[in-house]
Amino acid sequence: MAAMAAALRGPVARFRSRTRAWTRGTRGAANAVGAGQQQQQQQQSFDLLVIGGGSGGLACAKEAAQLGKKVAVADYVEPSPRGTRWGLGGTCVNVGCIPKKLMHQAALLGGMIKDAHHYGWEVTLPIQHSWKKMAEAVQNHVKSLNWGHRVQLQDRKVKYFNIKASFVNEHMVQGVDKGGKVTLLSADHIVIATGGRPRYPTQIKGAMEYGVTSDDIFWLKESPGKTLVVGASYVALECAGFLTGIGLDTTVMMRSIPLRGFDQQMSSLVTEHMESHGTRFLKGCVPSLIQKLPTGQLQVTWEDHASGKEDTGTFDTVLWAIGRVPETRNLNLEKAGVNVNPENQKIVVDAQEATSVPHIFAIGDVAEGRPELTPTAIKAGKLLAQRLFGKSSALMDYSNVPTTVFTPLEYGCVGLSEEEAVALHGQEHVEVYHAYYKPLEFTVTDRDASQCYIKMVCLREPPQLVLGLHFLGPNAGEVTQGFALGIKFLYIALALL
Ligand code: FAD
Ligand code: NDP
Repeated sequence: MAAMAAALRGPVARFRSRTRAWTRGTRGAANAVGAGQQQQQQQQSFDLLVIGGGSGGLACAKEAAQLGKKVAVADYVEPSPRGTRWGLGGTCVNVGCIPKKLMHQAALLGGMIKDAHHYGWEVTLPIQHSWKKMAEAVQNHVKSLNWGHRVQLQDRKVKYFNIKASFVNEHMVQGVDKGGKVTLLSADHIVIATGGRPRYPTQIKGAMEYGVTSDDIFWLKESPGKTLVVGASYVALECAGFLTGIGLDTTVMMRSIPLRGFDQQMSSLVTEHMESHGTRFLKGCVPSLIQKLPTGQLQVTWEDHASGKEDTGTFDTVLWAIGRVPETRNLNLEKAGVNVNPENQKIVVDAQEATSVPHIFAIGDVAEGRPELTPTAIKAGKLLAQRLFGKSSALMDYSNVPTTVFTPLEYGCVGLSEEEAVALHGQEHVEVYHAYYKPLEFTVTDRDASQCYIKMVCLREPPQLVLGLHFLGPNAGEVTQGFALGIKFLYIALALL
């Protein structure tokens, strides 16, 4: 207990003396602020400042506050090029997991209503779906989560600043609110958790002007109508899946393979299922031009790599789902000396989540080499706070993190794909156990189960260590969690042997 108290006292004592030194530099820093902006010279100091109020940042801030620290969170949402804006909580809450999963649920419900008569329900077909109603319900839920996050910060006495933050120097951050007012914040420890934003293919004429991204789709008041989704990874396939599921004419334009990085046998089954349920795929195609027609529709021109020919099609909406860019460009990281990987602009971190500046850390999507997933950002944030303030020395374990792609038939996996296992251990050392199965809920309705499949990738030599588990079928998210726990314990047990 005494040791803990000493550990807690240490950083605070150092913080006080440094604060005096930093204050001396404050005036110069405030002077550096743009001329049109109202200036506020007063500097506020904290034990911990978190930049970014998303999954990782909020978890880190709340944990630090629980440990009795003086904590601030700076969060600011730059509206999308289409003007979409949202509240506190970051990508997952506002334009990611939450609205996505709810719209996925809307699509699944449509399928269940069609199945219902097999179970004795009298349903009048065809059924109709209202985008407006769904979107309003989803958006209201998201707004309630925004509010909930603000209340949680208040309850834990975390100071929330709705400001766009950037570094002044390695100890100080300045934030500008939407009215141009500047706030100066300094802290003993600074955590960068600014996430990322969707990428636009800026070289394609009309792409930015007429296209939308996942930052907009969940906030559309009117149905997107006939939609072209460009890209073939998580975001693309999930969005195409729910759009098809609620009855919209949906096409996916894929330039190479589906779900790069995932097991390719499973990925092919995912797209096969989507195709058999109405999603169209334009394979080996890349868009080159988007034009608005007098009807208001969008004419898309694309190149078909296989035939070498150009083709066109008309759509109501073009959704870019071609990856994400880390939010590091506006942080003035060079002023703090924080290094990024020049290839992808992500912040370089070590196992402690520390950047090239020892008291500045980065977690979540903005950090190099981390999975872009909410649970890992949350856990990393909590553990970082615990390490900083002496509660624990445990590091985040990024191995064997399960993930699920919420396509109409969900695909969950943990560990290595078959391709990765073969590349790592050699074909002759890898054994794959597999099974097609018919989920019970598919029997009465006689749904086609030809893509319901599970495979386990193992080392061939006894005791046949499990390297990866892949599951395609209903509720894969929930099922995979169970398997992931088993695999995690297996590796913990092996480490203890
Ligand atoms: P974010 O949650 O992105 O938060 C960063 C915050 O920092 C934002 O509020 C941002 O506005 C703010 N910010 C940025 N710059 C500044 C600045 N200069 N000053 C102040 N504030 C700033 N993950 C899953 O695990 N499961 C899913 O099902 C899932 N679905 C997804 C679906 C979609 C469509 C998308 C796009 C993502 C999905 N993800 C999912 C990924 C998940 O949303 C992210 O991994 C997670 O939100 C990352 O958290 P973070 O804390 O790193 O950043
Ligand atoms: P990814 O970076 O995973 O995939 C980008 C996709 O866009 C690929 O299919 C890529 O094709 C394609 N692409 C890239 N550039 C172009 C281009 N110029 N023209 C055409 N196609 C292009 O990005 P996502 O946005 O899908 O996902 C980002 C992250 O968000 C994921 O890694 C994931 O961690 C997280 N996420 C998690 C979810 C979940 O947990 N369920 C759901 C959604 C997102 P190619 O393969 O040829 O490069």
